[in-house]
Amino acid sequence: MKPTNHWDIVPINLFILRANFLPMLVIHEIRDLKALIAAQKADGKSIGFVPTMGALHRGHLSLVQEAGRQSDFVVVSIFVNPTQFNDPKDLEKYPRTLQADLELLEHSPCCVVFAPTVETMYPEPDTRRFNFGQLEQVMEGQFRPGHFNGVAQVVSKFLEIVAPDKAFFGQKDFQQLVIVKAMVKQLTLPVEIIACPIIREASGLAMSSRNERLSPEQRENAAVIYKTLREASNNAKNFSVEELKTQVVEKLNANPYLQTEYFEIVNDTDLGSVEQWTEPVNKVACVAVFCGEVRLIDNIVIA
Ligand code: AMP
Repeated sequence: MKPTNHWDIVPINLFILRANFLPMLVIHEIRDLKALIAAQKADGKSIGFVPTMGALHRGHLSLVQEAGRQSDFVVVSIFVNPTQFNDPKDLEKYPRTLQADLELLEHSPCCVVFAPTVETMYPEPDTRRFNFGQLEQVMEGQFRPGHFNGVAQVVSKFLEIVAPDKAFFGQKDFQQLVIVKAMVKQLTLPVEIIACPIIREASGLAMSSRNERLSPEQRENAAVIYKTLREASNNAKNFSVEELKTQVVEKLNANPYLQTEYFEIVNDTDLGSVEQWTEPVNKVACVAVFCGEVRLIDNIVIA
């Protein structure tokens, strides 16, 4: 492990000169990050940004890799954003593993980690209220009230601070991706949002920081979520949309470790419910399932 704290105190100018040759830098202050990025831009470098809440896994790293392929200078943020947690217990239990995260990022194209404190990101309470209409009323929006407003608050702040050319988001959080794209349009932010595919464990379970909270038996049974989504996707057209939805929920709930919160099949533009397979829209099946106390989400495209 490199002495992260040591690099923290090296004068910023040194990094501006040598950012591409030195080990990854960790920055906590907005002004330091802005100075570093301004220097990179002055040097003609394109900026790629990957926002995360830490507890990194291969899903996050795939975004960082893609950012490295598409940008000259990659910024990764690690910040557990309190405003997007509607359940205080969930916020409290969210894993915080900064040192391990930095070690994981060391062999990635990440150039700088931005790890601000809550006070740095919210010197004053953020009272902004976004309006995403239906996008924030269904699925995650319905079951996690206020969640997407918090996501929009923090992502808009990060996009203002980092001012990246491209920002990378996982399709694992499909609804979040749709909402971030809508927010970027609403605020006319000059950034391209890049969607990256879902990375899964060998069992098929979508990688998630929350998987760490599953017992070995829960983890094994949680693999049923993706198995069921895949079967649904393969057999979709043999049933009506309604029949398929009922079958999926019954299959998931038949597993004693799983309890479905919702299963929806929506179009990928306004997240309206798909009623008929003949509708000329891209269809995505989205699910939220409790495995014990751990809430897991996943989705699959229905071709
Ligand atoms: P989080 O730290 O959970 O807020 O996630 C940060 C970013 O990583 C988001 O854009 C997520 O969609 C993405 N992400 C999380 N898990 C995965 C995964 N299994 N595959 C791909 N992207 C992911």
